Amino acid sequence: MNKPRLRFAPSPTGSPHVGNIRTAVFNYLYCRHNDGTFILRIEDTDRERCTEGSLEEIMLSLRWMGMDWDEGPEVGGDYGPYFQSQRLDIYKKYAEELIERGRAYRCYCTKERLEELRKYQESNKLPLGYDRRCRELGLDERARLERENPEPVIRFAMNIEGTTEFDDVVRGHLVFDNSLQDDFVIIKSDGYPTYNFANVVDDHLMQITHVIRGEEFISSTPKHVQLYEAFGWKAPIWVSVPLILDERRRKLSKRSDTQTRFVSYIEDGYLPEAMLNFLATMGWSSGEDKKIYTREELIQQFTLEGISTSAAVFDLARLNDLQGEHVRLLSVDDLAGRLIPFLKEAGYIGDPPTPSDLEYLKRIVPLIQPRLVLLKDAPDMMLYFYRDDFDYEEKGARKYLIKENSPQLLEVVAEKLGSLHEWSCTTIERAVREGGISLNMEGGQVIHPVRVAITGRTVGPGLFELMDVIGKDRCVARLRRAADWARSRLEVVESQTSS
Ligand code: GLU
Repeated sequence: MNKPRLRFAPSPTGSPHVGNIRTAVFNYLYCRHNDGTFILRIEDTDRERCTEGSLEEIMLSLRWMGMDWDEGPEVGGDYGPYFQSQRLDIYKKYAEELIERGRAYRCYCTKERLEELRKYQESNKLPLGYDRRCRELGLDERARLERENPEPVIRFAMNIEGTTEFDDVVRGHLVFDNSLQDDFVIIKSDGYPTYNFANVVDDHLMQITHVIRGEEFISSTPKHVQLYEAFGWKAPIWVSVPLILDERRRKLSKRSDTQTRFVSYIEDGYLPEAMLNFLATMGWSSGEDKKIYTREELIQQFTLEGISTSAAVFDLARLNDLQGEHVRLLSVDDLAGRLIPFLKEAGYIGDPPTPSDLEYLKRIVPLIQPRLVLLKDAPDMMLYFYRDDFDYEEKGARKYLIKENSPQLLEVVAEKLGSLHEWSCTTIERAVREGGISLNMEGGQVIHPVRVAITGRTVGPGLFELMDVIGKDRCVARLRRAADWARSRLEVVESQTSS
């Protein structure tokens, strides 16, 4: 059997949508599972809808996901060009061929006529569509119309009788009534092909074996099937993947309020591993009760039979859960490396980071890794490792610092820590506890104020571990700063209550 050839064929009409990338994921996984060829083809024939930067974002998204294409823009291949806008002569040639075969015709109808036709059909509740006036023209009439409109479009002459049928791997055998089909335009008056035409010509010329795409294209597939028949070409295997719904079970569209712009997930610090796991399992299942998949497992297990027929729901909570799990699967070095851009941006480390920046970062990472979800949240979680002048969380300060005996406790602990010769979790813990004991205070009464003094917060990683990383001098200084701050706040409180 020949190796499969699949394409992801986006139109660069905006920032890629999560649904587009999910389609790319299915194509990519099927290719890699079957040792096939993954092709990127840019369908840029709707010049008015193409937007600047869209192509770059599409390529960035695919590469970020580790879905490098084997043929396409920037990498080339034997079936190029891979931009439809560079293939206009090819489409023209095939359109002419259809005209010769009697399966396409020039249509001279003006915009105004088509508009009138539509209004008439609407007001008489008739099915909408072209009335095929130009399908059978006599020579004289054609000549007359050509004078009227020298820039005709080319339309495909659909079979009017009977049905168009095809098998879809996901949806089964589908039957469409030809009487409801329209003679659609294949070449516009500006010489550009339409999506339906260019897509079929290219799938054929690029020897595409499987078309995996969103089920919104099912209604266009009869057009494609008839084009294949008209040319006498073998159609690819059709695979329509279910829609993605938002959490309110509405179709997830560029306009829906759920966040759909794929690049925003990159910016927020999702991991490509988590996004791949999430998108692959949105409408596909291996049949096992399994949550976490690595790229290798997905490639190994992906089959078309696992694609679901029912719509998939875009569940952000599930994504975040997967993200946390994938963060925890990373080695310290790997996670540290991925945090660098976010920490540079926060101004915590140099650009490029120095060896000591990296060494320090690798000591912090194991402490935040258990609770980290989005990489963009790391700078905030790490704030007190990098900054000494943070504010104290109000609630924590009220509960643990602005207390009668807190300043004294913090001073005593500072003193004990300051005199340590060896700085380790064990010695730190002992010193902190001894400080409490000397003032007759119990564990919790000591730990909480010290934590707020050292980090500004009431929750976080193990206190002694983080103090170990922050270092002796900075910890001592922070305890003293907190003691002074608490004392001054206590004085304010006192003067308010006595006046
Ligand atoms: N250019 C079409 C799209 O964006 C491709 C559809 C197809 O895969 O046939 O979505």
